[in-house]
Amino acid sequence: MGNIRSKHNWSGHTSFTARRYHEPTSVEEIQDIVSSSSQVRVIGSRHSFNGIADSSVDQLWLGAMNQKVIIDTLNKKATVPAGITYTELCPVLEETGFALTNLASLKHITVAGAVTTATHGSGNGVGNLATVVSGVEMVSANGDLVEYTREQNPDIFPGVVVSLGALGIITRYTLDLVPSFLIQQDSYENIPFSEVYEHYGEITNSAYSVSLFPTWQNDYCETLVLKRKASSKEPLSTPDTFFGARSRPPEKARKASEGRSYSPFGKPATWHESLPHYSLHEPEKMGNELQSEYFLPRENLVEALKAVQSLKEDLEPILGGSEIRSVAADDLWMSPANGQDIVGIHFNWLKKWDGIKLFLPKLEAALRPYSAMPHFGKLFHMGHEELKEVYPALNNFRKLILESDPEGKFNNDFIKKYILG
Ligand SMILES: Cc1cc2nc3c(=O)[nH]c(=O)nc-3n(C[C@H](O)[C@H](O)[C@H](O)COP(=O)(O)OP(=O)(O)OC[C@H]3O[C@@H](n4cnc5c(N)ncnc54)[C@H](O)[C@@H]3O)c2cc1C
Repeated sequence: MGNIRSKHNWSGHTSFTARRYHEPTSVEEIQDIVSSSSQVRVIGSRHSFNGIADSSVDQLWLGAMNQKVIIDTLNKKATVPAGITYTELCPVLEETGFALTNLASLKHITVAGAVTTATHGSGNGVGNLATVVSGVEMVSANGDLVEYTREQNPDIFPGVVVSLGALGIITRYTLDLVPSFLIQQDSYENIPFSEVYEHYGEITNSAYSVSLFPTWQNDYCETLVLKRKASSKEPLSTPDTFFGARSRPPEKARKASEGRSYSPFGKPATWHESLPHYSLHEPEKMGNELQSEYFLPRENLVEALKAVQSLKEDLEPILGGSEIRSVAADDLWMSPANGQDIVGIHFNWLKKWDGIKLFLPKLEAALRPYSAMPHFGKLFHMGHEELKEVYPALNNFRKLILESDPEGKFNNDFIKKYILG
């Protein structure tokens, strides 16, 4: 996780400006801080790339809270501390035979950090990490502890889940669980873009979770990773070719992923070892990148990919890698998948902010015809007016913030600039 007390985010790109930093151990302590503060925000594991987690007055870290994971095996639900990381949570679920439907590319992030920014993994039929939330407990602006559930608050609940941290200090979530499952990941090399254009639906329907990794410098994606469900530890057979791509033997696949994967290629492993891509254990790789990601309605993918390809010369000096993933539709107001199946085009930048800053407007202009929406936890250029166009529920969310927190206790510069306008 890095240094939880550092004054900057994971990548070192954003500095935090809070005058006071707290590590509360109880809900009562949080309530006291909220009641006496003029501005308060929570910091999760610091993995967002912009100022979304900053506060100029009080900043809380909830990793020291004295709370436990409670599993309701009958109803297949877990009530979890908001500040728990997936690294801590997943083994507890696995021990009781349960799983989450999806995970991001890494497990180091907190549940609240992931849920409030609609963090996602990949899978045509799988929603982002916020979609498994069925209950949210939070300390509201007047210091009260309030609870919202999908069942009891159907009108407002979809607005409360992806909150960008602007509605209150979340203390606990209730998450829907599924029975634990096994996933086998297999790697293929050089899938032609022509095949991706023609068969994206079939390619991505062929496994539980699918990721394409292009450098954009060739007329093929250099890597395709298929994560298929397996019913036993017996390896699934892997075709030698797949839509024009060649299968990579497991050892070569491990090297191609720079040894950063938790689970072996070519044989089944638990869901929480196989769904994330990265263990990020090498200190020299920690924080050594910046990221942006844009989501598009799935039907716009082919044209959007062509638009990005046309920028390959601009991309070459600043890009470390890219990933294309699918996310299933949901009903969460500030989720990019609200009401539509989407595809995310993700950019892992080299740490060359001067060049990236100049390039982002060009990239956004190229993707604008395809209704591209930025990831709120990553770097983007567009402002409030453009965000209102691509996030149709933004106005409702804005109203919700103004009603529930009229004094702006949970605002920060990010919320004021991008959401309140
Ligand atoms: C290496 C790397 C890989 C990544 N991979 C993915 C990926 O696969 N998919 C993807 O979608 N994103 C990915 N991200 C982005 C990341 O998942 C999001 O930025 C996420 O928000 C980070 O969670 P965090 O715990 O670090 O939260 P932070 O970045 O610390 O905070 C995020 C937001 O959550 C709020 N928050 C946190 N806790 C609370 C709380 N208790 N109450 C109220 N608000 C709270 C903060 O105020 C802030 O607004 C990646 C980032 C990195 C650095």
